[in-house]
Amino acid sequence: MNTMQDAASHELIAPDFVRAGARIHALAAELFPICRSITGDGVRVTLALMRRHVDMAVHEVPTGTQVLDWTIPREWNIRAAHIKDASGRTIVDFANSNLHVQSYSVPVRKTLPLAELRKHIFSLPDQPDLIPYRTTYWAESWGFCLPHRQASALAEGDYDVLIDSTLADGALTYGEYLHRGASEDEFLFTAHICHPSLANDNCSGLALLTLLAEHLKGVRTRLSYRFLFSPGTIGPITWLARNEAGIGRIRHGLVVSGVGDGGGPTYKRSRRGDAEIDRAMAHVLKHAFERPTLMDFEPYGYDERQFCSPGFDLPVGLLQRSRFATFPQYHTSADNLDFIAPEHLASSLQAIWRVIEIAERNYTPRNLFPKGEPQLGRRGLYASTGGDKEGPAKAMAMLWVLNQGDGTRSLLDIAERAGMPFHVILAAAQALSKAGLIAAQGAGRD
Ligand code: ZN
Repeated sequence: MNTMQDAASHELIAPDFVRAGARIHALAAELFPICRSITGDGVRVTLALMRRHVDMAVHEVPTGTQVLDWTIPREWNIRAAHIKDASGRTIVDFANSNLHVQSYSVPVRKTLPLAELRKHIFSLPDQPDLIPYRTTYWAESWGFCLPHRQASALAEGDYDVLIDSTLADGALTYGEYLHRGASEDEFLFTAHICHPSLANDNCSGLALLTLLAEHLKGVRTRLSYRFLFSPGTIGPITWLARNEAGIGRIRHGLVVSGVGDGGGPTYKRSRRGDAEIDRAMAHVLKHAFERPTLMDFEPYGYDERQFCSPGFDLPVGLLQRSRFATFPQYHTSADNLDFIAPEHLASSLQAIWRVIEIAERNYTPRNLFPKGEPQLGRRGLYASTGGDKEGPAKAMAMLWVLNQGDGTRSLLDIAERAGMPFHVILAAAQALSKAGLIAAQGAGRD
């Protein structure tokens, strides 16, 4: 169904990347202070802020619901927490940082000696000034996270601890937005929504995808675009359990996480390894960045693990800047708003947009004058590039499309063979098509 007519008729207007980078950073800053976890009001408040940009559906799945091999847990909410010393002085306060409390801590209110308290304190000896991020989702426990410098200086004596939390029957909350294109074939974008105040590992992906969805509202696309914002692991498992009938529509998918720092980028291929998303992402990153890292699939990482489990085996990869767990700020209080920057968010968005261009526009051309080179000058194809600094590259791109356009190779194949960016090859194909020199191969894309 993908004829060149289709491809050419769509107005795929790109965002203004510089402006978008600043807006993504501003939205990430709004989301940053909220105490999120895998369930609870933090997720709802986060989705409410994102819904000011796109009218997404908010789903609530009750505690106890079976989802694949898992069960929706009780809902966790927290209002306050502190540690006070024997003199009644507050030495740790949840109000100062939501990282201070281990996520999913059961409620606690007691006085206990330092030796007992220490069993519930997490700190990082190698990074003594940072607060670590810790969770206890699947084991009933409680804990405080402190800078090691503070934890190791605690004096002997009794301490008052309070965690004013609740673990009760409720729901798991996730957000979903669908931008409808001409086709029901889908491009799935997803980010986890379960981390508290961590800017890169959470807020960057949520904010980038929200504003990408907002931009798409004004764009006519061939594919439909689905956005999923759900808690890590249990969220995609829940979504897959409830949407199994429709997953055949997913043609491409990308988990977007940690896209605001200046490292990388890092792309982890889908389990298939040679899906179009894998080829498109590799192509775009090679042309847009100096040293991108391309990794093969492994069953450890982010939510691609669920989409790429063998019973689904969807073409879903993972895009990050620095790879998770490899940078010192990872899962600490140093993953704050200073760690992410508008220009990095902008270049991450631009890379994703280039991949969308490939997903929308890739097709297999056929040279209608394959015997000898057709005369380009007579058709104004050289003239139109005269005096243009990019002229020689444009002419070269046309020669590649004509030469490789034997009806078996897609524009992405040709771009890779030519060592030129897809969008340059696409522009050449559009000019050649307009001049009647090429047509879409009837079979269309794979
Ligand atoms: Zn994380």
